[in-house]
Amino acid sequence: MSVSVTGLDGGRLKGATGEALPELASQGGVAPGWEWRSGLYRMASHQFEQAADALSLDEESRTRLLEPRRSLTVNFPVRMDAGHVVNFTGYRVQHTLTMGPTKGGFRYAPDVSLGECAALAMWMTWKCALLGLPYGGAKGGVRCEPHGLSDGELERVTRRYAAELLPVIGPNQDIPAPDMGTGEREMAWFYDTYSQGVGYAVPEIVTGKPVVLGGTEGRQPATALGAVYVLEAMLERLAWSMAGQRVVIQGFGNVGSVLAAELHNRGAKVLAVSDVEGGIASARGLDIPAVLRWKDEHRYLSGFPDGEPISREAVLELPCDVLVPAALERQITGENVDRLQCKLVVEAANGPTTPDADRVLAERGIPVLPDVLVNAGGVTVSYFEWVQSHQKYAWDIVEIQDRLRVQMRAALARVLEAAAELDLDYRTAALSVAVARVAEAARLRAIYP
Ligand code: NAD
Repeated sequence: MSVSVTGLDGGRLKGATGEALPELASQGGVAPGWEWRSGLYRMASHQFEQAADALSLDEESRTRLLEPRRSLTVNFPVRMDAGHVVNFTGYRVQHTLTMGPTKGGFRYAPDVSLGECAALAMWMTWKCALLGLPYGGAKGGVRCEPHGLSDGELERVTRRYAAELLPVIGPNQDIPAPDMGTGEREMAWFYDTYSQGVGYAVPEIVTGKPVVLGGTEGRQPATALGAVYVLEAMLERLAWSMAGQRVVIQGFGNVGSVLAAELHNRGAKVLAVSDVEGGIASARGLDIPAVLRWKDEHRYLSGFPDGEPISREAVLELPCDVLVPAALERQITGENVDRLQCKLVVEAANGPTTPDADRVLAERGIPVLPDVLVNAGGVTVSYFEWVQSHQKYAWDIVEIQDRLRVQMRAALARVLEAAAELDLDYRTAALSVAVARVAEAARLRAIYP
């Protein structure tokens, strides 16, 4: 069900953006996987190749694991409040079908693309494998500006997107979840749309639902809490105490705001936080409960009275112990990496560090705890939700957080062990644990027919 965007121009194949495609005479077409090419996909592929090299992975496994197995591109009409119709483009990419059903969020953002979803789907595969969850990775999204849509328009977009995905999703096939720009509300609409279609309630079709609809306790803060558990365990290993750690957090949404609150509660000093409009900083540490109240009332951080305003870019460059990117991809790059003044990077966002920045951080001796480990708490508690939805039995919050803590600490231990054993940075170590697991599963299942 892959969709390619190619056309013939003067006998030569051209991509959607007009560039010439590499010809493969032997295959009579364009290079395999051209569909996924994007900056983010190149980053994910590069990271995969590094892990594959560290494992001396054979060519067959590389071929089987790199490209996504399925993708669906949909264009669908939605009637807007004003009466006219707008066409939206949506995607769903499933990276591997080897490990069980696929799992991953869907996002609403203006720059969602097939290549972005492909990269994020691949990272989901590694995240699930690292945590030992019985899933392959998936990711989806609708290209839109969610803040520019009314509640009714967002509901119609979500319901139609859910209906368009019917050929590839299912409670034992592919289970979506929230991502940037989507949350409990969208999951409730998605769940209802799917259930209306089959004629009975199927709560297992999505995770991240409201608790009253079969969602789990503890899902909303799970990603941030998982990151906190990893950081706590890492600090124990380094013999650094959490109390007094100077932390800077980029992004103050679902992940960044909960992370700030949890670290503040544990005695860390949150020196600065930022959002899409800019940042606020305080050398003595921000009063995070007050910042949270301000954000509730004003939506953005700017104007917060008890902190110095600081630009989005400068936040990343503040002197601190722990820098936590928790906003977007590609924030620590070759351009700004030399100016970073932190001792440890903890990647709560997906893909915040580019490979060239990774190299410089390694040279400068600044370790990076990678995204596939740090933010895996979200999909781990999503897995707990899916199990509960299947069982029709709800666990309590204490059980969920205890299990999450155990899983996150075990995953960190696997990463540190692989790093020591193979002499790798933490990202390559994490990916090598995950890639080895998926490659072994693919080898054992062999190739059908
Ligand atoms: P969100 O939309 O709730 O919050 C994003 C935050 O980043 C907002 O505060 C926004 O204002 C800010 N932001 C946007 N552009 C920025 C910029 N240029 N500079 C500084 N801040 C900026 O999203 P989220 O759910 O918190 O996700 C954040 C990251 O964590 C994403 O990379 C996402 O893929 C990843 N992640 C989220 C979850 C989850 O459970 N929510 C799970 C795994 C990974």
